[in-house]
Amino acid sequence: MVKETKFYDLLGVKPNSTPDELKKAYRKLALKYHPDKNPNEGEKFKQISQAYEILSDPEKKRIYDQGGEQALKEGGGSGGFSSPMDLFDMFFSGSGFGGPRGGRRRDRRGKDVVHQLTVTLEELYKGAVRKLALQKNVICDKCEGRGGKKGAVETCNTCGGSGMQVQIQQLGPGMIQQIQTMCSECRGQGKRINPKDRCKTCNGKKVVRDRKILEVNIDKGMTDGQKITFSGEGDQEPELEAGDIIIVLDEKEHPVFKRSGNDLIIRQELQLVESLCGFQKVIKTLDCRDLVYTSSPGDVIKHGDVRCIIDEGMPQYKNPFEKGRLVVQFLVEFPTQIDPLMIPQLEACLPPRQEQIIPDDAEECTLSPFDPEAEARRRQARNVYDEDDEGGHPMGGQRVQCATN
Ligand SMILES: [Zn+2]
Ligand SMILES: [Zn+2]
Repeated sequence: MVKETKFYDLLGVKPNSTPDELKKAYRKLALKYHPDKNPNEGEKFKQISQAYEILSDPEKKRIYDQGGEQALKEGGGSGGFSSPMDLFDMFFSGSGFGGPRGGRRRDRRGKDVVHQLTVTLEELYKGAVRKLALQKNVICDKCEGRGGKKGAVETCNTCGGSGMQVQIQQLGPGMIQQIQTMCSECRGQGKRINPKDRCKTCNGKKVVRDRKILEVNIDKGMTDGQKITFSGEGDQEPELEAGDIIIVLDEKEHPVFKRSGNDLIIRQELQLVESLCGFQKVIKTLDCRDLVYTSSPGDVIKHGDVRCIIDEGMPQYKNPFEKGRLVVQFLVEFPTQIDPLMIPQLEACLPPRQEQIIPDDAEECTLSPFDPEAEARRRQARNVYDEDDEGGHPMGGQRVQCATN
């Protein structure tokens, strides 16, 4: 039991989620609410980042699970949160230090653009090429990224070339506050182009939007969350090296197969007669072959039994001739009723019953249908009247009594 679930709720996961599930949840939400895609959801983006930052750190997660948000604050050592952008860049670029955005000023590199691409399990099994149409900024051809005629660039009058404006605010008698803001005239660049000399194509912005088709090669065995990087294909900006386009694969759930690493898992329902007397079954593979397997006669397959077919799982990434296992989970369907007249014949084929000794004073009772929800509903109804009833557990009490008898 965890004390609070706020951070889990933000990511839309259960408190018992695995680190992989947390990662996937953050990945999906962060891409959805990133300011590039959703400029009005900055607050949501920040909350998702903070939730993930806590829950992805085993020590912080332990403190949060035990004592909630308050315990994290009191713990002191947490040192606040990283910037949501830094966390995002670190997560998607995988470069632990600085990240592309943090290193931007140092490296003179434009920012990376991250896109999610939904792929089917079939595509990850067989490999595929997907075409992706994207909008990106490219340097304006007409003015070669100058924004206007050659020599038309002049120092900004408004800020005198510093790129900053200082505003003085009178707060009260004798109290003055100086606020430094980015110059709105030149957008912080310190230079501007006279409106009459501005490039007509890019309107002085130095870049234009362009449609670009990317060919994404999905290799056999790639996994959910895997990144495919197109170096230097991100937005172009004058005097900056272009950033990357990063494609993040999002594996679509398959109606039949579930993937676990390189293994594929499939559920197979059996009739009781099949589980006892043998059967043949056909599996259609992800590349549309038919596999047939036979349970050897006399070999009983029980409900919940698991078998596997070697080399029919997912191909290994970069080594696609090596494959995982196809794991078959069996679910046996029992008949709901058996004709009482047939029972002697059935008994004759099955291993004999073990004799049950019944004490003389044993009490006769009846088996009723069991509804697992019933107790929770009852408790809920009762809590409407009695808010602080916590220990009320009549079923549990009864069970203990039975066990001691
Ligand atoms: Zn131009
Ligand atoms: Zn200026």
